[in-house]
Amino acid sequence: MKIMLESFTHSETHYEVDKDAKHCSCPAFTLNGHCKHLAGVGIYKQRHATLTTRPNYSQALSALVKSIRLRDINEGAYWLNYCWSFNDRLAGSQFRTVRRLLIGSSEDGHSIAVMEKMAANFPALLSKQVALERVLAELIRICKVPNWWNPDSGGHNYIHCGMLAMRKGFYSPAQCSLADCLSGLVLSIDQQNKVGALYWTMAAHGAGKGAGLQLAQKLYTLATEQDCTPALRLMKNVYLPHAKSLSADSNFTCQAAWFLAGGVSPVIDQIETVTLGEIRQLLDKVRDTSPYVVPEWCCDGIHCAGNDLRYAGMWDRMFAVCNQFSHYGRVSPVDEWLEPKFYSVAGLKLEGGMMSEDK
Ligand SMILES: [Zn+2]
Repeated sequence: MKIMLESFTHSETHYEVDKDAKHCSCPAFTLNGHCKHLAGVGIYKQRHATLTTRPNYSQALSALVKSIRLRDINEGAYWLNYCWSFNDRLAGSQFRTVRRLLIGSSEDGHSIAVMEKMAANFPALLSKQVALERVLAELIRICKVPNWWNPDSGGHNYIHCGMLAMRKGFYSPAQCSLADCLSGLVLSIDQQNKVGALYWTMAAHGAGKGAGLQLAQKLYTLATEQDCTPALRLMKNVYLPHAKSLSADSNFTCQAAWFLAGGVSPVIDQIETVTLGEIRQLLDKVRDTSPYVVPEWCCDGIHCAGNDLRYAGMWDRMFAVCNQFSHYGRVSPVDEWLEPKFYSVAGLKLEGGMMSEDK
């Protein structure tokens, strides 16, 4: 699959990007063997690996994240239990595991009720004495509500807007001040421009140390003024109480900006019961399972060493997963991956200067 992609800085220059051969005609590729154009069409630089039954902590954490993404509760429980075994031998790992679940409630879900529950339980889950059952309950609760790849969640629009916003950033490489980002955000929300609102939210996160907190405070003020309950709940009940742990995370702020600009999710109040019986049954099953090799689809090679980038958490890759669902009516790693069909080039400038709005 070859794409004639306009240079991100010079509109008169085009590069031939060959996705199958993982090759680009630009000078940076010749020099480094990788470039931003390949990443721009979904071919990210990967660290390949031979996977084992005893993966390191970051690979196991990635497997946990991917399991939540695909709503595979059994796989998720197995890797959560595995991550938990590092608590006594890897400093900070319990905090990282629990924080990843909090982030996962938003990166892989639109239920604000689930996020609020997780946020309220967050301090207790960091206690040295906490039972794994309580942590597993959060994972199950997240997985019981449809993820963004299921259109019932409203997530296809969110992910599509996020992908377009990310690509808008390719063509605006200059870093803006936080004040400029917040002005752009206000204007985009006034215009109910969801792509613009997400673009300025992402830009604000890149505007320096402490920017996340100031952005969240701005979103909180805007949500109050405009009586936008979903955005208000996201900032007041979830992000701001844990801003210190979430400073570098943009999932909650992006969702708040999307809601303020007119985004709609039918699942914001959906929360399902999780019983102690089902938690214990799942945990018994996991503890009876013999160690097995971490599945390929769990290790994207970007966030940890691995070989399968289909379920990596970048906007363009996530939108391809939305299209996988549209094609098969489910998201399963065993289904054949049809990259040319699933991967959208919307928002990229191709030869002829045409902005492709959809694939
Ligand atoms: Zn290139």
